Amino acid sequence: MSKNSGKEYLNNLRKSLTKAAKILGLEDAMIDIINGAERKLYVEFPVQMDDGSIKVFKGFRVQDNTARGPAKGGIRYHWNVNEYEVQALAKDMSHKCALMGIPLGGGKGGIICDPKGDKNNPNGTGKPLSKGELERLTRAYTDKITYIIGTDKDVPAPDVNTTPEIMDWLMDQYSKNIAKQTGQPFKKIYGVVTGKPVGKGGSLGRGRATARGMQVALEEAAKDLNIDLSKARIVVQGYGNAGMNFAKFMYDEHGSKIICVSDSKGAIYNADGLNPHEVEKWKEEKSPKKSVVDYPGAKSIPESDMYGIECEVWAPSALEGVITKDTAPKLKTKVLVEGANGATTNDADRIMHKNGVFRIPGILANGGGVTVSCFELQQNLENPDCVPEKQWSEEYVDKKLKTHMVSAYRSTKEMYDKHKVSMGLSVYLVSVDRIAKAVKSKM
Ligand code: NAP
Repeated sequence: MSKNSGKEYLNNLRKSLTKAAKILGLEDAMIDIINGAERKLYVEFPVQMDDGSIKVFKGFRVQDNTARGPAKGGIRYHWNVNEYEVQALAKDMSHKCALMGIPLGGGKGGIICDPKGDKNNPNGTGKPLSKGELERLTRAYTDKITYIIGTDKDVPAPDVNTTPEIMDWLMDQYSKNIAKQTGQPFKKIYGVVTGKPVGKGGSLGRGRATARGMQVALEEAAKDLNIDLSKARIVVQGYGNAGMNFAKFMYDEHGSKIICVSDSKGAIYNADGLNPHEVEKWKEEKSPKKSVVDYPGAKSIPESDMYGIECEVWAPSALEGVITKDTAPKLKTKVLVEGANGATTNDADRIMHKNGVFRIPGILANGGGVTVSCFELQQNLENPDCVPEKQWSEEYVDKKLKTHMVSAYRSTKEMYDKHKVSMGLSVYLVSVDRIAKAVKSKM
């Protein structure tokens, strides 16, 4: 996201939060707190590159609000990272955690760097960072943020271009720094980050938690809207972790018809339905393009045609800003369930509300991810040595996740029915109320 779109994202978020706060009758000072940020850390640090040169990198960590618990949020490695984007993403996390009813606040971090040698980077060299460079970058950044993170302060996680391995380096460097500061022997502090590999402190069920949460939110909406999910036609934009697993859950557990899916290379359509497992196999094992496109038994369609497909469920699960004032009027779906963050603009939210498209906003629909990250932290705190027998089972994780999803959905729907506003605003009525109460209780 460019600096300008980062600014726009933050401004739009603040507009919605202010609207929600005013409906709730909050005083101006509280609105300032909701719109502000507790801490914005800007860091610069040198890293030795493989050719022996030294390069100075810039990074951020924002703690938006910690009234409900330690800050929680990913760290992004991208050449487009900027302070506005990081602040907006941190704010989103505060509201997502509040809505999901987990005892965490919101945070986000980022380093301005180009790990993949992105051809779209106007100042890039096209050369990716090597594994050694990535590790030194991560450890140097960790040194700069060690004093503000920790299991009781701020718990980072993976985000764009940051992997479980990067989280492992961060955790190791943080643990070394704490051992040095306290003079105690080195001990791995697993809980300082989430998104770790299973077996290294990660939680079972985290991999598919976002899709599982989307499914549960949709099941609740289907009850309210009288939609028979066994007959539902579903369109999924993005065939990665969120989109593909969501398609598989809906196909396997409800017998829904997955009629259209897409990825970065294009979209495919079959009115009789696709088998999402076969599509996965095609993409992973057979497709020369490593894509869903050209899947036998479906026709390729332009991505832009996806918006107008008649269906019961449309699931943006790839990029932000795809449901806009231009695409929202084309939608012929009953429900929009957002796997992606920031999929819908404020204008589009109003259009869908007017047109009767029932929206399950990203901070609700994809809240399963951070909820299971919270379970990972809870397991790390009660089982600090990560004894495998003490790990929560996937069934237990799924059951707990379902409770949080249903409760978040019901709280939102209550606001929607009570205030007759869009679902996009209803989620913030719930989260702002909870955050404001927590802030007040701490004063
Ligand atoms: P992912 O595994 O990287 O998958 C992203 C998918 O989107 C890929 O299939 C990618 O295509 C596709 N894509 C990229 N550009 C596209 C385009 N222009 N049109 C259509 N598809 C496109 O990412 P993810 O984890 O599923 O995340 C997807 C969204 O969900 C993001 O907004 C993310 O922030 C949000 N989210 C994810 C989680 C989580 O736990 N995973 C949690 C909360 C929110 P290719 O396969 O061709 O690359």
